[in-house]
Amino acid sequence: MNVLRHLFIALSQSARARQLVMQYGPMRRLARRFIAGETIDEAIAVVRELNQGGILATLDHLGENVSSQEDAERAAQEYRELAHRIAEEALQSSISVKPTHVGLDFGEDFCYSQLRTVVDTARDLNLTVEVDMEGSTYTQATLNVFHRLLDAYSNLRVALQAYLYRTEKDLERLIERGSSVRLCKGAYDEPSSIAWRNKVDVDASYARLMHMMLSDQALQNGFYPALATHDHNLILQVEREAARREMDRRRFEFQMLYGVRRDWQQRLANDGYRVRIYVPYGTQWYPYFMRRLAERPANVLFITRALVGK
Ligand SMILES: Cc1cc2nc3c(=O)[nH]c(=O)nc-3n(C[C@H](O)[C@H](O)[C@H](O)COP(=O)(O)OP(=O)(O)OC[C@H]3O[C@@H](n4cnc5c(N)ncnc54)[C@H](O)[C@@H]3O)c2cc1C
Repeated sequence: MNVLRHLFIALSQSARARQLVMQYGPMRRLARRFIAGETIDEAIAVVRELNQGGILATLDHLGENVSSQEDAERAAQEYRELAHRIAEEALQSSISVKPTHVGLDFGEDFCYSQLRTVVDTARDLNLTVEVDMEGSTYTQATLNVFHRLLDAYSNLRVALQAYLYRTEKDLERLIERGSSVRLCKGAYDEPSSIAWRNKVDVDASYARLMHMMLSDQALQNGFYPALATHDHNLILQVEREAARREMDRRRFEFQMLYGVRRDWQQRLANDGYRVRIYVPYGTQWYPYFMRRLAERPANVLFITRALVGK
């Protein structure tokens, strides 16, 4: 099934496949399982419902690898408007931004200047900005931009990927700075020279990093852990570790994706944990949707059945 994973991640970058999938009605309908809608109003309605069930959100206005600086500026502007909308509606939601959506392909300085406007607006509205982590060619640049932002702001969180060998060192530095990290497994196709490629190794790395994030040293520094996974074995390990440390269940959070494992989302919220759902919306849903298909072989069967009309 690793072959299917590689295939879907490769397709996520194909312009031809994008055109075919986005025009095909049944695929658009399937994408709706993972995407809150194409408009901000649809996304806001989803967040409101989550909040009513005691669940937090993070809103992602879908988009990545924009092709001009004007597009990046427009994306930053849309993010600032989104921040105002979240505040006006009194929603419990942060904002998630992909660095290449706000121009990382045009250099770190340019991306920093765009992201800073979003973080600044969010700070004034008492909101947090979460910086997503993309493919490994962007890891160092993303962390450079993030550390620069940390010099001036604290309403920030960055995603780190457990499949990368470098992550332990990156996490150490962020713990030292008392920042906040969203730990995920990693959704891109990375070579074995820099990343673990099989599930057992990635899971073991995730567990090690999770223990670092919940350690006394991290918590005493003011570090705030966000554990993003739907893997029930890892979730149970987090729960056991938090219980062993007699941690307050509000001192960290679980994060999951919209449309995935709703049963666990609600179970954890009912048990008094902070749970945050990543809610993507917008018209640029294609690469995000392909990465979701890549994550689970059963999704491919689900698609095949839908396409052949059974
Ligand atoms: C809140 C959040 C934010 C994220 N941010 C980033 C980021 O910034 N950068 C990045 O590279 N990755 C990000 N990811 C994606 C992440 O890296 C993984 O690719 C994804 O979460 C699948 O890994 P898993 O931990 O759920 O474990 P897996 O072992 O992949 O899955 C465990 C179980 O979860 C369920 N499941 C997982 N994925 C799916 C799916 N797509 N459809 C249906 N069921 C599924 C299945 O039951 C599966 O058996 C994020 C994930 C979350 C939850």
